Amino acid sequence: MARYDVVVIGAGLGGLTAGAILARAGRKVLVIERSNSVGGAASSYKSGDLFVEGSLHETSNPHDPRDPKHRVLTRAGVIDAVQWIPAGAFYQARGGPLDRPFVMPDDFDAARRALGGRFPQARAGIEQLLGEMERIALAAGTLSQQGGAFKNPRESMAALQNLVPAVRDRRLSLSRKLDQLFGDDEAIKCALTANLSYYHDDPATLWWPFFAMAQGSYLLSGVRFVQGGSQRLSSALARAVRIAGGEVLVRRIVGGIALDPQGRASTVTHTAKDGSDPQVVETLRIVSNAAPAALEPLMPAAAAAKLTASYAPMTPSASLFALTLGLSKPPREFGIAHYSTQLLPPWMKRLSDYAQGAALMAAEPGERVPPMSVADYAAIDSGVPAPPYVLSIIGPDLLSNWDSSDMDAYREKRGRWQQAIIRYLTSLYPGLARAVVAYRAVGPPVSQCAPRRGLRVRTGAALAAADPQALAPHGGAGTLPGVGLCRIRRLFRRRAVRRRMRRPDPGRELRLLRPAAGRYATVGRRRSTSSRRSGIALRSPERCRSRHRWNSPSNSA
Ligand SMILES: Cc1cc2nc3c(=O)[nH]c(=O)nc-3n(C[C@H](O)[C@H](O)[C@H](O)COP(=O)(O)OP(=O)(O)OC[C@H]3O[C@@H](n4cnc5c(N)ncnc54)[C@H](O)[C@@H]3O)c2cc1C
Repeated sequence: MARYDVVVIGAGLGGLTAGAILARAGRKVLVIERSNSVGGAASSYKSGDLFVEGSLHETSNPHDPRDPKHRVLTRAGVIDAVQWIPAGAFYQARGGPLDRPFVMPDDFDAARRALGGRFPQARAGIEQLLGEMERIALAAGTLSQQGGAFKNPRESMAALQNLVPAVRDRRLSLSRKLDQLFGDDEAIKCALTANLSYYHDDPATLWWPFFAMAQGSYLLSGVRFVQGGSQRLSSALARAVRIAGGEVLVRRIVGGIALDPQGRASTVTHTAKDGSDPQVVETLRIVSNAAPAALEPLMPAAAAAKLTASYAPMTPSASLFALTLGLSKPPREFGIAHYSTQLLPPWMKRLSDYAQGAALMAAEPGERVPPMSVADYAAIDSGVPAPPYVLSIIGPDLLSNWDSSDMDAYREKRGRWQQAIIRYLTSLYPGLARAVVAYRAVGPPVSQCAPRRGLRVRTGAALAAADPQALAPHGGAGTLPGVGLCRIRRLFRRRAVRRRMRRPDPGRELRLLRPAAGRYATVGRRRSTSSRRSGIALRSPERCRSRHRWNSPSNSA
């Protein structure tokens, strides 16, 4: 039986990054992916002529050493393996309570000037808010270096001081924070948060320090797109695993996890997609990209029950719908003026209205459309092939909005929403509908990580635990999503684990012969969350739950 130091379940950005770092650190790594190619959500591909980017429309600049991704991507050996193309500005926000479009630059000083110029009545609040965001983002960047952060006492003191605003306001939601600074000035609040769907669907349940850290990292380091699409980053990570001696298997589904009598990782069984060709490998550690709901059926009953119980109090977060349009002409010809545009619908009069957006797709399209984020790849040196000129449109959605038990009905509803979105875009950008030559999928909703009450690893430990840090500035647990491999060094810290690696244990070999069959189970609907249990580091990007509802009575205004 093959033996590995680590088996990584899932080759999303999190699993691949974990695999690359561990393999480069000399561990024997096996990454197992059920899809035909690596990348998970961070995949890009062609559908006919149409280029489709699965996610990663914008990320903060990892070349900036203050960016939390800098260290992790350097350790994974891929920071220079792709081109990180500047997006030019953070976003253009339009609609909702904004009387005219507002362009948010992607650096703090320019953002202060732009916001102060446009909203002079709110200048003091803008200075305070951006000042705090900058401090929190800086602190996150320094602390993401973990041990390295504390080599320079002056830097670590500064980082701790920069955390003061986050600690002071640790109980505030984004709404409460903005209400304190801007009262009922809804336009400035919406200008500052127009890209909210990157993180969450409801400002009243989004943890303010998380928003400050994630939004602040864009303003601190600038906004980037992976030239040629996110698949290039995913493939570079898979290459890094292999170059370092690790293995990456695709079209293999993990169907069983066995634990030893002490409850530690023991073996992983994987099969071909049709369940044939089962193979069992021995491992010391399991890093999982898969959600608890997908893992539970793979584990022994007692361990699965423990896992289920630990997530039971958590509330699933929102998802995203994603629609890709192919246009016969460059989008700028219809008035799309920036790489990233955040569209706030006309019915949205207040920031708090944003929360109503996620549920809209439960019904048939009507007068209201959700808020949307539009990425125009022809606006930058994106490396995205054209024509057709590609627009990615995403917005808040819920898994529960879509019933896929009747696929025909599901597809018809999806088609009606596609048309509704195209009609809405055409009302803003006349002529656009006539130029649509290809499109792909609104729903089924793929979801992203978004913290309800912020970092799920209890707040105190969260920042210190966050290594490696954000690849994607979406919420997560301790780490931001994309890189949920948390504390890799600690995976091997326990002496017992090192001993087990060195000493063959014949008794154990015999136990491993127990067939893992019978534990094969269909991998459930994609959900995500993260945790670490007895050698199993769980992580997935697609769906997070938090331990508490933010809007519990004790937290409400
Ligand atoms: C629509 C959308 C837009 C986004 N936009 C951005 C953006 O602009 N900027 C940004 O930074 N981030 C963005 N994100 C977030 C970012 O893409 C994700 O956070 C990140 O890609 C998640 O990576 P992951 O490894 O955690 O999970 P995933 O990509 O979901 O990977 C999990 C992998 O595990 C595999 N798997 C699960 N179970 C098994 C099993 N039993 N056996 C084998 N394999 C298994 C799955 O097939 C999958 O490949 C977006 C996400 C979405 C959905």
